[in-house]
Amino acid sequence: MPSLDPTDWSQLRSLGHQMMDDMFDHLAKLRDNPVWRPMPDNVRDSFQKPLPRSGTNPKAIYETFTRSIQPYVTGNTHPGFMGWVHGGGNPISMLAELLAGAMNANCGGRDHVGITVERQVIAWAAEMTGMPPTTSGVLLTGSSMANFVALLCARYSALGAAGRETGIGGHQLTAYAAATAHRCIAGAMDMAGIGTENLRRIPVDAEYRMDIAKLQSALAEDRQAGKRPFLIIGTAGTVDTGAIDDLSAIADIAAGEKIWFHVDGAFGALAALSPRQKPRLAGIERADSIAFDFHKWAQVTYDAGCVLIRDAEIQRATFAQKTNYLAAAARGLAGGEPWPCDLGPDLSRGFRALKIWATLTAYGAGAFGEIVDATCELAQHLGARIESSNRLELAASVSLNIACFHIRGLSDPQLAALVADLQESGRFAPSTTTLNGRLAIRAAIVNHRTTRADIDGFFDAIAALIDRV
Ligand SMILES: *Cc1c(COP(=O)(O)O)cnc(C)c1O
Repeated sequence: MPSLDPTDWSQLRSLGHQMMDDMFDHLAKLRDNPVWRPMPDNVRDSFQKPLPRSGTNPKAIYETFTRSIQPYVTGNTHPGFMGWVHGGGNPISMLAELLAGAMNANCGGRDHVGITVERQVIAWAAEMTGMPPTTSGVLLTGSSMANFVALLCARYSALGAAGRETGIGGHQLTAYAAATAHRCIAGAMDMAGIGTENLRRIPVDAEYRMDIAKLQSALAEDRQAGKRPFLIIGTAGTVDTGAIDDLSAIADIAAGEKIWFHVDGAFGALAALSPRQKPRLAGIERADSIAFDFHKWAQVTYDAGCVLIRDAEIQRATFAQKTNYLAAAARGLAGGEPWPCDLGPDLSRGFRALKIWATLTAYGAGAFGEIVDATCELAQHLGARIESSNRLELAASVSLNIACFHIRGLSDPQLAALVADLQESGRFAPSTTTLNGRLAIRAAIVNHRTTRADIDGFFDAIAALIDRV
């Protein structure tokens, strides 16, 4: 059997050094390249080859990477990227991924430093969001999974072990979230076997926040009809407009109803790092669970999601399984309970904690508070420029770091074409959303590299494109 390691490391070592140099150059010169470019057909077709039966020299693989892979990525590292809600990454996290690759740790369980670092990260996450030090949690791919894990904990809290063993049966479990909640909330209801129809989508007010009176009447109506409310989800930073639900009011209602209070704070939870924004999240510290991402505002490289569960026992009871071959021990490598495989759905899992630990350690939590403030200010600046223009109009007020706007006199297809033109120009990449029944341009400013000059350039580029329509 051939070992996959080289007998002579010198060539691979020098190729590795070159890759490092090239990637530092790439990050240092992001602005010199387009934010995004369409992929030519021949590149797309080059990934339709049969399975390679024999090997290729690593230098040739790197040439293919340089030619056919690197140029055609999403572009979210670039300061002109404003689409969806994507983080920009950071060089410390990139390096940590290299180190984690060399460790190749399986962080599903056992007694080793990967688990210890992850526990450190979870404790920091609890501190950042105002949860108690006893809070439990686990790192996951992203907030879609984190919301799902939290929902399963809420299900356990309602039904106990019976829910795990015999399913939800005839219990008409019902969950509540604003109409603006992320699509993954309905997805979690589906995956948990509770069903999307048992998610009550509560209408929102003029600021796109959950209408609390309507939440109360929905709860009363459902109790009357014999349903079993088990979970209320508040969103801290909706994906469309960045609106923050009234988390304190939701916490009060959940406490009164004795049901689980979850916060989807995918990006918005980390606004807690900004002393200026933190008061707007009041109530998040009362949550039974919080889902958020380190790969958005905290700029850790993908993927890095996190779920926090206030009651550690519930998280364990929701996922723990007894198996002979995974039995934990009091000492030795099989020690160190609780293992992350008993806190979520994954058994084998990588060392995500290392890049998060390295990022928070390198820059300090304060840096991320400053990024939150700076990106929110950029969105306000963009909002002010939109309001001063007679061709543009804000589609929603600027709540956090997202500005959504319409272009007067343009139909939806014209607006979609304008956005595609802008993306294809390679200078800026906003996305779109539908608000008030009309398509809007959506600029979500998440990247720590985006400056005021970028925002002005973006605004001017839109103005120039409008003149051409
Ligand atoms: C991004 C986002 C999600 C989904 O998170 P992923 O990390 O993409 O899985 C969920 N909710 C909100 C509010 C988001 O912004």
